[in-house]
Amino acid sequence: MTPADQGHIARRWKIAGIVQGVGFRPFVFQLATRHGLVGEVANTLDGVEIHAEGPAVSVDNFRKELLASAPPLSQITDIKEQNLPPTGSFATFSIAESRGVPPERPALISPDVAVCADCLRELFDPSDRRFHYPFINCTNCGPRYTIIADIPYDRPHTSMRHFRMCALCQAEYDDPSDRRFHAQPNACKQCGPQVTLLNRDGGKMDAEDPIAAAAGLLKTGVVMAVKGLGGFHLAVDARNNAAVEKLRRRKRREEKPFALMAPDPATIRLFADMSAEEERLLGSITRPIVLLTKRNPHGIAEQTAPRNRYFGVMLPYTPLHYLLLSHGFTALVMTSGNRSEEPIAMENEEAFKRLAGIADYFLVHNRDIYLRSDDSIVRHAAGAPRFIRRSRGFVPAPLFLLHSQPCVLGCGGELKNTVCLTRGDQAFLSQHIGDLENEITERFFEKSIAHMQRILRIEPELIAHDLHPDYLSTRYALARMDKPRVGVQHHHAHIVACMAENRLADPVIGLAFDGTGYGSDGRIWGGEVLLCRPESFQRLAHLQYAAMPGSAAAVREPWRMALAYLYAAHGRCFPDMDIPLVRNLAPEKCHIILRMMERSVNSPLTSSLGRLFDGVAALVGLRQQVRFEGQAAMELEMIADAGVETRYDFGWSPGLPHRIDLGPIVRGIVADVQQQTPQAVISGKFHATLVALFTELCGNLRRDTGINRVALSGGVFQNLLLFGGLMKALEREGFLVYTHRKVPCNDGGLSLGQAVAAAAMERKGQTR
Ligand code: ZN
Ligand code: ZN
Ligand code: FE
Repeated sequence: MTPADQGHIARRWKIAGIVQGVGFRPFVFQLATRHGLVGEVANTLDGVEIHAEGPAVSVDNFRKELLASAPPLSQITDIKEQNLPPTGSFATFSIAESRGVPPERPALISPDVAVCADCLRELFDPSDRRFHYPFINCTNCGPRYTIIADIPYDRPHTSMRHFRMCALCQAEYDDPSDRRFHAQPNACKQCGPQVTLLNRDGGKMDAEDPIAAAAGLLKTGVVMAVKGLGGFHLAVDARNNAAVEKLRRRKRREEKPFALMAPDPATIRLFADMSAEEERLLGSITRPIVLLTKRNPHGIAEQTAPRNRYFGVMLPYTPLHYLLLSHGFTALVMTSGNRSEEPIAMENEEAFKRLAGIADYFLVHNRDIYLRSDDSIVRHAAGAPRFIRRSRGFVPAPLFLLHSQPCVLGCGGELKNTVCLTRGDQAFLSQHIGDLENEITERFFEKSIAHMQRILRIEPELIAHDLHPDYLSTRYALARMDKPRVGVQHHHAHIVACMAENRLADPVIGLAFDGTGYGSDGRIWGGEVLLCRPESFQRLAHLQYAAMPGSAAAVREPWRMALAYLYAAHGRCFPDMDIPLVRNLAPEKCHIILRMMERSVNSPLTSSLGRLFDGVAALVGLRQQVRFEGQAAMELEMIADAGVETRYDFGWSPGLPHRIDLGPIVRGIVADVQQQTPQAVISGKFHATLVALFTELCGNLRRDTGINRVALSGGVFQNLLLFGGLMKALEREGFLVYTHRKVPCNDGGLSLGQAVAAAAMERKGQTR
C-alpha cells in the first residue's frame, strides 16, 4: 500500500518572520512528533520550511497548533501552504541542516525576554537542580541581544563563551526534545555564571546567599547597585522615605520619577490601579515599565514620583529579580544605574567608577553584558499600548515596512536618541541611547551603530540625519564621508515615522508637535502642520513665531517663555501688566527680557507647541523653572480639569502656510488669570482650545487638499489629554487618524522616519 492509500497526506509550509533562533525548529519537531507525523523542518533563506506527512486529521491538527502555540519569541509574518503527494520516504520527523542561508542575509536575532513560567517553576522548586539559580533560562526565555558579540547566534559568539557547559547542561542542549535544545545561555550552578555581593570599595562580602544578603541590606535602607540584563539598576526599598530621598540626592535627580519593581500584580494593586490591558502589558514577555495611576493612599515613598499621577511599574524579568523580590518587598525602586543624563552603567569596573558615591553595595555577576539596554516604558492610552521608550525586550525585533528599500542608517536626533538601520522591508531600531550631550553617551551612540551593523550584517548605502548642524548625530553623519548623506527635516521625520509604522505611503496631513526641531528656515519649529509624503513635505500651517529670550535658558526657565508670549499678545507694555507672574519678577528683569526680544539678542524664534505649554504653565503660576525637559508641560496636563468644554478664541492667517495666532489664546488666559480662575480650569480650557483649533484647521486643509488622513507625531503627544481629545475629535469629523503604537511619538522614533524618508528622497532623486 502507498501512503496515499492509507489516507496519508503531505503538506509543506513556508513560514516567514522571526522564526530562527527562537526555538521554532525544536517546537515544530516536538509538535510533529506528538501528532505522529514524519518529515522535516529546516531554516531557509526566508524563514522556516516544514514538510510533514501523516493522516489528514493529524496534519490538520498539527497546523492548527502550529499557529496557535508558536514559541513566544517567534513572530510569523507570512505562511504559505502547499499540498503534495506523500513520498513515503521519511521514517521519522527530523531537524534538517539550514539551507541556502547566505551570510549577508542572517536570521533575525531575538530581543532579551523575561524568564518563562517553566523556568520560574524550577527556580522555586527545591528538588530542581537549578533551585534558586539566578541564571536559569531556556529556549523560550532569557538574554539574547545584550550578550551577543557577533552572529551566527551561537554560544562562542555570546558572553556565555567563558562558561563551559557541564555534562548535564550539554545533554539538554543537544536533545531536540528538551526545552533547552540549543538554548545558547544554558547554564546551571555547577557550570554557569555566579552572583557576588560587594561593598562600596569592591570588597567581597562573605555571604552564603548573596541575594538574600542583599535583600537584608536593602531592608536597612541602603542603596544597592544591581547588575541585571542590560545594565545596572540602583535599588532601594520603595516604602522607605529616607532611602528614596538619599538615592535622589546622590543621583542628583531631583524630580524625575523613579521606576518601581513589584513581585506580582496583586502586590501592585496595593499602590496602583491596573486595567486588564495594563496587567497584560506588565506580564508580557517584554516586561516593560508600565505607567499606572497611583492609588491613594499608596504607602510608597512620596519622593518616588513627586507631583505625578502615575507610578512607572514593572514586574521582575530576570530570575535574579524574582529571587530578590521574594524577600517580602512591596516594591523596590529600580532606576537606571547612572548619574543623571548619562547612559546606564554596564560592566562591573565601570559601575564602580561611575556609581561611586551613589551605591552603598553592589550585587554583581560575571556574565558580561555586551550591549546595554534600558528598560522600555509604555502606557496604555487611547485603546493601545504607547511607547515612551522602546528598548529592552523589543530591540532588535524589526518593524516591517511597506516597501523594500536600500540599506539606510538613520542617526536620530539629539534627545532620547535611537538609531535605525534598514534592510529590505525590515527596519531595526536601536535601544534607547539617550541624550547626546556628553562624551559617554556619544561613545555609546557610535558603539551601538557599529554593533548593530555587525550583528545585522548591514552596511548602509545611505546615511540620514537631522538638519540641525550642531547635533552630535548630525556631525557623526557628516563625518562619514564614505557614504552619501541625506538631511531630513525633524518634523518631516516625525510624521514619516508614523506613516512607516502604519505602512502608509499616501500623503497625509501631519501634525508634528514637539519641543524643538530645526526648521528648513533655520528657526526652531515644533507646532507644525505638514502635508507630508515619504519623500517631501509642505508646511501648511504653524504656530506663530515667538522669541526664546535666553535661548537654552528659556527651555529651563518657562517664565521667560511666558514673557515672550505676553510680548506676542500684548506688545511692549507687558512689564506693566498686573498679573502675578510679572509682579513676582523684578521690574529690571522684565525690561531686560523686553530689550533682548526687541533687539533680537540671544532670542531665537520658535513655533514650538512644547514651549507654549511651558509658557502657559508659567503664566498660570504652576512652575517657573524645570528640572527636566517637558516637566512644566507635564504638570500643566496633570492639573487640568478634563471636563472643561469652554475655550479661548483662536484663529490663523489666510494664505499658506497659515500662521496660527497666539494673541487670542494668550489674552484669554491672561484675562482668566486676572479673574483668579482656577489653574485646573485654565489648563482644561487651553487643552480644549488646541483640540478645537487643530480639528477645525484640519477640516479646512482637507477641503483644500482633498486629504482625509491625519498622522499625529512628536513628543507633545505624550500629553494624553491633547492626544486622546484630538484623536476623538478628528475621528468624529470623519478623518482617518494614524498614531504611533510601535515606536515612541517622541524623538525616540525619529531615526525610523529619517531612514524611510531618506530612501524615498533618494528614489525620487531629490537628494542631489
Ligand atoms: Zn525558560
Ligand atoms: Zn551545568
Ligand atoms: Fe521632536
